[in-house]
Amino acid sequence: MNAKKELTVELAEGICKTCGDKREVYYLSDFLYGEKLLRTEDGKHYVYLNCFDDTAFDEIELILKSIFANKNLSQEKEIEYFNKIFGISCDSVNGVKIDGSKTKIACLSCGSEQLTINEKFPPEMVQRILPEVTHNLWDQMDKQMKKQAILSEFKKRCIV
Ligand SMILES: [Zn+2]
Repeated sequence: MNAKKELTVELAEGICKTCGDKREVYYLSDFLYGEKLLRTEDGKHYVYLNCFDDTAFDEIELILKSIFANKNLSQEKEIEYFNKIFGISCDSVNGVKIDGSKTKIACLSCGSEQLTINEKFPPEMVQRILPEVTHNLWDQMDKQMKKQAILSEFKKRCIV
């Protein structure tokens, strides 16, 4: 079971271009610095992350810094790679891995990521309970295993 968090989110309507089904689309306020809604790999579910409270966030950043050393990456690239790798430290949600670099949200019925998003003006704020990022499996790994996992994900997903 994942931890859950009650959040105030901005609500929009997503309409699937493939099957026509509707789903709720959420945004966090821009003022919530350090808080994010990540996605599961299949794009279907939101997962709440608070970068400041998160136990793995700093740890991964530190390990990545040593991998990035001498690679002369732009700050944007470093952020992009961090987002791509962060998910390996997160427990799955509904059996699906988290992808910190995913920005699209998918249709709950057919899985298509082609959605028309209708934002509301003025914005409508609602309370929703969403799964929260946890690192139970990650925390059972020792430092060396974590480093290996990050390195192999880096080689797989980040082209330098
Ligand atoms: Zn659909």
